[in-house]
Amino acid sequence: MAKAYRIVALGMLGVVGVAGAGSFLAPSTREAPAPRPALLPVAYAAPVEQRFQDTLREGETLSELLERSRLDADEASALLAQLREHQDPRGLRPGATLSYRRATEGGELRGLEMKLDADRRLVVRRRGGEWDAEVEEVPTGHDTVALTGKVESSLYQAVMAGRGADVPRVERERIVDLLADRIFAWQIDFSRDLQPGDSYRILYEREVRPDGSARSWRVLGALFDLGGHEHSAFLFRASDGGEDYYDRTGESLRRAFLRAPLEFRRITSAFSTSRFHPILKRSRPHYGIDYAAAPGTPIHAVGDGVVVQAGWGGGYGNMVEIRHRQGYSSRYGHMRAVAAGLHRGDRVKQGQVIGYVGSTGLATGPHLHYEFREDGRPVNPGSVKYITGEPVTGGLRARFREMVSARLAALDRGGSASRYAAAKRSPNAARAGD
Ligand SMILES: [Zn+2]
Repeated sequence: MAKAYRIVALGMLGVVGVAGAGSFLAPSTREAPAPRPALLPVAYAAPVEQRFQDTLREGETLSELLERSRLDADEASALLAQLREHQDPRGLRPGATLSYRRATEGGELRGLEMKLDADRRLVVRRRGGEWDAEVEEVPTGHDTVALTGKVESSLYQAVMAGRGADVPRVERERIVDLLADRIFAWQIDFSRDLQPGDSYRILYEREVRPDGSARSWRVLGALFDLGGHEHSAFLFRASDGGEDYYDRTGESLRRAFLRAPLEFRRITSAFSTSRFHPILKRSRPHYGIDYAAAPGTPIHAVGDGVVVQAGWGGGYGNMVEIRHRQGYSSRYGHMRAVAAGLHRGDRVKQGQVIGYVGSTGLATGPHLHYEFREDGRPVNPGSVKYITGEPVTGGLRARFREMVSARLAALDRGGSASRYAAAKRSPNAARAGD
């Protein structure tokens, strides 16, 4: 059967990649190449199957699509039943595609595929007299992208204007967030430390779908030259721990606490020993930082610790308090809700979601009130940055140095294309600096 498809594909010109439900999904890179069918003259290769494809329109239901798509009523209801077992038809978005194959002779329906979302497809096959359906993950490949540029005004401007191969806006925005809020959170204050003429080089890895879109990405290496002073970050896995960022010399960039517990729009009230309270109408200290953010924005634990309070806290509204090592503690107020299942006594890890931005308690609008204490005394969270990550030592150092030079070389080359991304790019586009 599979062979028949391949011969058909030759006859159908240019559809080799989609011929047969299995050929596209089969991991083709590591397999020994399948024996090629003899090259028959086109005239001899009469198609044994025909393919049909249709797309769900705006406001259309799946039943309507099936009705429109030249399936007969029995076929449509059998297939709808299979689809329903795996996917709520109401969850399908306009643009979802349905494709199926039919025998040229006799017109028997052979199989059907439906793209459910960017990462999953439903494959329905006829096995004997029965239909059999399964959801298959879209295969992905990996590539690396080099992004380089100079600073004119801000980090955002610099990354948006940076030279890189075919890097969409949404990816650039994500890279900005990762650099500012995670990777260099404690090393560079991007709102103050950047000067016109400073430069950067970033190498990141993407997981790429067959259509060329990225599913996820992570920064492998980043270098900033700020007035002649270099800041570097390289992702590296120490033998037993997880992956972490280290500078070029192998020092850990990890700090005991996150710089901020959320992605925020702006700071509406900084830490101060005296400020005018908008609701109480009098001056009193503000022993925390207020971050304005959209309601529902996830709030992360700034460090590992134990939950000492999770629930209603009077003026704080819904709040969480975490006790960390070495006498530190953190408080998060005005939450719309505490994360489901989070209770007093639970252990939390740095970065874990503990609740969502709201305006409960004494709050004029949605924001997070974040407090940080040392031995019970409120301190400015920005002043505490002790290092917790171990440097790269011993036998790992050689491997670390190799990794650093390999990534610097990859930066010079401008990254590497995966077989999927390569399909989308022009041959020269993968070189940075073009
Ligand atoms: Zn506050």
